[in-house]
Amino acid sequence: MRLLITGSPGAGKGTQGTRLAAHFGIPHLSSGDLLRKIVASGDGAVAQSARAISDGKMVSDETANALMLGELDKPEAANGFVLDGYPRTLSQAQTLTAFLAGRGEKLDAVVALEVSEVAVIERLGNRITCPQCGETYHALVSPPKVVGVCDECGYAGLTVRPDDLPERITVRLRLYTERTEPILGYYREQNLLTPVNAEGTENDVFARIVAALKKVAPL
Ligand code: AMP
Repeated sequence: MRLLITGSPGAGKGTQGTRLAAHFGIPHLSSGDLLRKIVASGDGAVAQSARAISDGKMVSDETANALMLGELDKPEAANGFVLDGYPRTLSQAQTLTAFLAGRGEKLDAVVALEVSEVAVIERLGNRITCPQCGETYHALVSPPKVVGVCDECGYAGLTVRPDDLPERITVRLRLYTERTEPILGYYREQNLLTPVNAEGTENDVFARIVAALKKVAPL
């Protein structure tokens, strides 16, 4: 199964992408997680990416393409993948299509998570993240068992992502509308778009995605 999960910041791409990958036994390739790992590794060449990410802006198409096509080239991704956060611009989407076509492949489905702006601001404004393993928590709905400590990896330094600060959420939502939303039309024209209501509980949304995929991309 070759899947793309897309949607605005805070739509739940990371959470649902992780679950879908486990469900189908394929890797979850999150461009945001990969970029944050590279930045944390302290590579001087990526200082510019670091600034873009914490400001809520986007890295260049060249950087995103090189990173993600490199991941898709790995043997782990040979039998399927869940892409999350890439492509994020029309140009990236076209690059991905050409890359996959070069191997005689195409995406099976594009899951577009739909969530209101009010819900996004509420979710991101309450999001706490583990800088070590990337696990996320909602401060009110699903807090960690011990304050400040990650349930998943035990790291005792849960934090608010710099791009989840209110003024940066606004930047990210604007960029989503201007630069990422056009990919929805691109995939709709190719009959790949599967919109899913992403409001409600994590379990409800996951069940909706799996049910929608059964119809459009049965295994
Ligand atoms: P995310 O975890 O998907 O919200 O991504 C976090 C940040 O990483 C974004 O706000 C961008 O700065 C950067 N980023 C992730 N994926 C891409 C991409 N495909 N193109 C450009 N920038 C990206």
